[in-house]
Formats: sequence, C-alpha cells, structure tokens
Amino acid sequence: MISKIVMLGIVGAGKGTQAKRLSRYLDIPHISTGEIFREAVKKKTPLGLKAKSIMEAGDLVPDDIVIGIVEERLKEDDAQDGYILDGFPRTITQAKEFDKLEDLDRVFYITIPEEESVKRLKGRRICSKCKKEYNIYLADDDTEECPCGGKLIQREDDKEETVKIRIDNYIEQTEPLIEYYRKNNLLVEIDGDQEIDEVFSNIKETL
Ligand code: AMP
Repeated sequence: MISKIVMLGIVGAGKGTQAKRLSRYLDIPHISTGEIFREAVKKKTPLGLKAKSIMEAGDLVPDDIVIGIVEERLKEDDAQDGYILDGFPRTITQAKEFDKLEDLDRVFYITIPEEESVKRLKGRRICSKCKKEYNIYLADDDTEECPCGGKLIQREDDKEETVKIRIDNYIEQTEPLIEYYRKNNLLVEIDGDQEIDEVFSNIKETL
C-alpha cells in the first residue's frame, strides 16, 4: 500500500487541504511541519521562540531543527503505518537527510500557476478555533465567523509583503525537489488548478 507520502507544491497549491482528505481516506496521520511550528509559537515553547520571527518573515526554519522535529514526530504510535507529510521536505538537505531515515512511497506534486498562489494566500482565512480554512475569493458570503463560532483570521505570513518572500524561497529552495523526486521515480504530478473535489479524485485515481 502507498502509505509514506509527501505533498509537494508551491505555497497555496492546496497541499494541506488535500493532505487532510487523504489522511481521512487512508487513515494515516497528516503531519504538517508548519502546523507543528505554529502550535509551538502559540505555546511559547523553546522551539516556538526560535521559529516565531523566522516564520513571520516568511523564511525557512533551519534544516537541522526541522529534521529533528520530523524524526521525533514519526516515532509516535499513529505514524507507524504511514503518514502524509505536508510542508516537509522543503530543501534538498532535508530530502537527503530524510532519505537516510525512511523509504518514501509517493510524492504528490500539486501544480498551480504562480499568480494563483499569490491570490490564494492573500485570500486565505483560518478559523481561530477549529482551524478550518476558508478563502474570501471562494466564499459565497463574507461571513467573519466559522460555524463553530471561531473568528476567521489571516495567518501572519499570508500578508502580502511576506507572501512574495515565501514564493521566492519556494522557487529557490524547494523547487529543486521536483527533479530530485522525479529522478527517484516517486513523483506524481497533479493539476491543482481545479475544484478541490476534482484534485482529490485525481489523487485517488493514482493510488
Ligand atoms: P506552512 O504552513 O507549510 O506554509 O509553513 C509555515 C512556515 O513554517 C514556513 O513558512 C516556514 O517558516 C516554516 N516551515 C514549515 N515547514 C518547514 C520546513 N520543512 N523547512 C523549513 N521551514 C519550514
């Protein structure tokens, strides 16, 4: 079974959205390094204190810290039958170090045009309570509340000035992973510029 999975793609491609669905479908955990760091920032742990300013600037957390965090997370019980990594690896160093630890089954590379990435990130809003994501460009109404009662907020690093830095970092540091995984025969390309359900059914068809 395909169970050790990486979601790759430009920021805003829909990696998290698809990872959550795939996680329910395959019953394996969705592991988002960004989410781990955001939780650490919120709880003001030593990791969070280190990561906060880096993340707010749109930069990448140093490789050794990220690899250590992922290695620890994969030791937990729920990850023993597989996982979906979202936002990791993000550099060639991370990918190479990870290859020493694990044998991946599949890398889904979700593609969208760069202009779409900018638009999606600027429009993204997240429920402060249940973490459900919305997009003001997609929503039928302009509600400021989630049905759960939580307020819809913008991620600090989704603000316009930071989005450009994140995209530049993606192009410079993460894009080389496409060739890396293509050479390893792990890459499956998925058109992310479609309805969420369509993207997911394209992913399912390849399993
Ligand atoms: P994300 O939620 O995946 O967009 O991640 C949010 C932020 O967390 C990124 O902009 C980085 O600052 C940091 N981060 C998440 N994953 C990684 C990673 N694999 N390597 C370095 N930094 C990361």
